[in-house]
Amino acid sequence: MNLKPDARLSAFQAAAIELIGASHVLTGADAAPYEVDFWKQYAGKAAFVLRPSLTSEVAGLVALAARYGVSIVPQGGNTGLVNGGIPDDTGHEVVLSLQRMNRIRAIDPAGDYLTVEAGVILADVQKAAEAADRLFPLSLGAEGSCRIGGNIATNAGGLNVLRYGMTRDLVLGLEVVLADGSVLDVLKPLRKDNTGYDLKQLFIGSEGTLGIITAATLRLVAPARERVTLWLTVDTPDAAIELFRHSRGVFGDLISSFELVSSYGVEAACTHLPGVRRPVADPHPWHILIELAWTFTSGLRERTETVMATLFEKGLVIDGTIAENEAQRQMMWRIREGQSEATSQIGYVVRSDVTVAIADIPALIARCDAFTADYGAEVSVLPFGHIGDGNLHVNFVVPKEKAKDLAPRLFESLFAEVDALQGSISAEHGVGRAKRDAIVPRKSASAMRMMGKLKSTLDPDGILNPGVVIAMPPKD
Ligand SMILES: Cc1cc2nc3c(=O)[nH]c(=O)nc-3n(C[C@H](O)[C@H](O)[C@H](O)COP(=O)(O)OP(=O)(O)OC[C@H]3O[C@@H](n4cnc5c(N)ncnc54)[C@H](O)[C@@H]3O)c2cc1C
Repeated sequence: MNLKPDARLSAFQAAAIELIGASHVLTGADAAPYEVDFWKQYAGKAAFVLRPSLTSEVAGLVALAARYGVSIVPQGGNTGLVNGGIPDDTGHEVVLSLQRMNRIRAIDPAGDYLTVEAGVILADVQKAAEAADRLFPLSLGAEGSCRIGGNIATNAGGLNVLRYGMTRDLVLGLEVVLADGSVLDVLKPLRKDNTGYDLKQLFIGSEGTLGIITAATLRLVAPARERVTLWLTVDTPDAAIELFRHSRGVFGDLISSFELVSSYGVEAACTHLPGVRRPVADPHPWHILIELAWTFTSGLRERTETVMATLFEKGLVIDGTIAENEAQRQMMWRIREGQSEATSQIGYVVRSDVTVAIADIPALIARCDAFTADYGAEVSVLPFGHIGDGNLHVNFVVPKEKAKDLAPRLFESLFAEVDALQGSISAEHGVGRAKRDAIVPRKSASAMRMMGKLKSTLDPDGILNPGVVIAMPPKD
């Protein structure tokens, strides 16, 4: 189309208003919340924000975007951490929010699945499963805000990966609007379907760059009727890994979470989060939160107490306690999940998300301690997270005024250590714009080439979230 960018945007906006109504095409102050991320680390400028409520409307809007050559940024709950779900700062990108697509289309406890639209809040998916006496096991700190379409687009991990896998492992089917405005329907609730390429997998973790997810069929599992939550302390990260090895041997798949928190993080939570107290009396170097669950209503607690006695006898833990009630359990989780919030009251938090082999977690922590020591008191390192998955969030707390200078240097050092241990610089948060260039030298040339081919095949005109995950290959 031979129009200037502003004219194309105006024509698109007018057509969008006709399609979904002026009240669902937001500009100015109404658009502002869609232009900045959850932690206010990244900000952009949208031409306008679209809020469709039907798949046919999403399809119509994407077809219009293709016709007018306008880029679309799909957005769910806007809790993503890698600058992938907000527009760039040109003012030429249009945000397409899925928040009004929030219906539960079907739930079948016999088939152990439910079908939901992309804009359903994760906590509401969990509630719908619970009402049918089932569990949707995806769980993360942002679950009251993030949307299932965003979870699928980022292949979110979270707190129960150890037992139930990543989001990818929970998706049976998808409905996706493609870059030309057509709808790909691979939404069936089938567990087995070997009829060619598994197309839904292309879109899981693609961060809005290959298609817009409008609905999903999700796997449900048996409910967790008895839950036991332990808070244990150990001297060293090596002891934490030894505790993990032993616990897996005893409890196997009953462990849904195995989380590490440092002494620095625990004390920060107790100081800065209202009402939070350390679950064990004395300070200890490292704390482990373990959650066990099964489908029976009783018996797990008694078994756990017996195992705990053995842990003390064998010297595998220094101290520990079992949550006596839901309030104590919530307090333990508040400490774990409040790590970023608590430390952001001490300084600016440089957040990261990396993974190495579980056995290499102690080495990674030691290497991070070593390079941050060079900065003296200016930088505090805060490793915490899902060590049962080999996934650490190595955050750095730095003075706010020095964050711009320090953050890139700290990332460079961290990523070099992750490389040395043959890990990955993104475990569960994705790539976005934040890590787009950093993945290039770390993936094989053939993998990058294939990613480029997929992007240019599915989105030849770069309509969908351009600049996120992968730079568009030059046109022939
Ligand atoms: C406090 C907090 C705790 C967190 N804990 C975890 C954690 O434990 N594990 C974890 O993995 N992540 C975690 N996150 C990161 C974040 O919550 C997840 O990445 C989440 O899956 C993003 O969902 P969202 O709906 O907010 O997506 P958004 O932020 O809106 O979007 C994320 C990406 O997906 C794309 N997208 C969104 N919706 C669609 C769609 N329907 N179709 C196509 N593309 C789409 C966007 O363009 C963007 O690239 C946390 C974030 C916060 C703030």
